[in-house]
Amino acid sequence: MMWKNRIQRSMQREGRKMPKLLEMKKSIDEGMKVLLEFLLEKDKVRGIISLKKINGNKGISYSLMTSPEELRDALPLFPLMPANAGKLLSHITLRGALTEPLAVVLKPCELRAFIELVKMEQGSLDNSLFISQTCPGVYPLDTSINGDLEKLVSQYRDESLSAEIIPAIRNACKSCLHFIPQNADIVVSLIGEEKAHEKFKIFLNSEKGEKFTAGLEGEIGEAELETEKIILFKDKREKEKKKLFEEIGGEIQGVEGIIKLFGKCIGCHGCSSVCPICYCNLCFFDSQRNESEPSALDHDLDRKGGLRIPPNTIFYHLGRLSHVSASCIGCGMCEDVCPVNIPLSAIFSKVGESIQKTFDYEPGWDIEEAVPFVTYREDEFKEIGE
Ligand code: SF4
Ligand code: SF4
Ligand code: SF4
Repeated sequence: MMWKNRIQRSMQREGRKMPKLLEMKKSIDEGMKVLLEFLLEKDKVRGIISLKKINGNKGISYSLMTSPEELRDALPLFPLMPANAGKLLSHITLRGALTEPLAVVLKPCELRAFIELVKMEQGSLDNSLFISQTCPGVYPLDTSINGDLEKLVSQYRDESLSAEIIPAIRNACKSCLHFIPQNADIVVSLIGEEKAHEKFKIFLNSEKGEKFTAGLEGEIGEAELETEKIILFKDKREKEKKKLFEEIGGEIQGVEGIIKLFGKCIGCHGCSSVCPICYCNLCFFDSQRNESEPSALDHDLDRKGGLRIPPNTIFYHLGRLSHVSASCIGCGMCEDVCPVNIPLSAIFSKVGESIQKTFDYEPGWDIEEAVPFVTYREDEFKEIGE
C-alpha cells in the first residue's frame, strides 16, 4: 500500500524532491519565540495552544494564549506531556470546527492521536496550524513533581542536539520510531542540530505552513529532513524497541502471562482516562452495566471459591486492547499515570503493532485512510473463510 502524508503530498504537488526549509540566525528558543509572536502579531492566527508555565512557575500545562504578553510564559518545546494534546484538541473541536485559525504546538504522537480521532469523527482539523518537532521524547510526569527538572532539561537539550537517546525519558519514547512528524504544517528541527544555539531551522511541509510563515525573517531553501544523524538515531531507537518488545513479548504469552502482567491492577481506570484513543463518553467498565448481579457473584464464588476485588480487571484490559490497539500511537500516557507501574505502553504498542501489521495500517499517518475497525475490504482475511 502507498501511504501519503502531508510532506509527500506537498512535494509531489510542487514537483520538489526535498521539503522546504526556513533558516533563521537565532537559537532554537529565540527562533521559536519569534515564530509564535509573528503568527500572533501579524494576525495570522487568533491564538496559540502550547505548553506554558502556570501557578507561579511551578506547574506546566497546555494553554490557549491570545496575546504576546501571555506568550512570555510559553514553553513550546518543553519535554513533558501533561496530557495528550490530541485528546485536548478533540474536546475543543468535537462539537464543531474552530471558527478562527489557531496554531497548535504539539509532539508527533499527539498529532497522530488527533488524526485518529478525526477519522473517528471526534474532532476537526479545520483552521488548525500544526507546529511539531523532530522529537527527542518527554520525561515521565513524576519528573516534574519529584525531579530536578531544570538540570534535566539542559541535559535533555544537549543529548537531543547530539542525537543521543536520553536516559530518563519515558520508555515509550526511548523506543519510538515515529519521532518525525508526518502531518505537521511546520516542523522544528531539533534532533542532531549541533548548531542549535545559533541556527533555528523549520521545515514548511504544507501550503498552509508556507502561507502562514510568509514574511517571517530568514532564508528559504530546501533540505532533507532525514539526515544521516536522524537515520543513526532511528537505528538506536530500533535497538531499544527490539529489546523492549522481546522483554514484554516473553511476559505476555497466554492467559497466565496476561493475568500475571495485569494482576497488580487496582482498577483505577487512569490509563483509559488519559488515553487519547479511548474516547467513549462513558466507558462500559465505568457504567452500571458493568456491575454484577448478586446471582452472578454467587455463581463465581461457587465456581472459584473466592472473589477478586476489584473484579473484572482482566476483562477491562482485554476490552481496552481490542478497542485501541489498531489506533494506539504509542504515546506512553497510560504507563505514565499507572500507580502500580504496569508496563502498559510496551504491552499496548506490541499488541498494537501486530494488529496494525495485520491490517496493513499505520495510525495517524494518512487522514484519508479509514481506521480498520470502522471499515472493511471485501478481499481481506479470505484465509479465515468467505
Ligand atoms: S512517543 Fe515519540 S513522538 Fe511521542 S513524545 Fe515520545 S518520542 Fe515524541
Ligand atoms: S494505549 Fe497508551 S500508548 Fe496507546 S494511545 Fe493509549 S495512552 Fe497512548
Ligand atoms: S492505570 Fe494501572 S492500576 Fe489503573 S486501571 Fe490502568 S493498569 Fe490498572
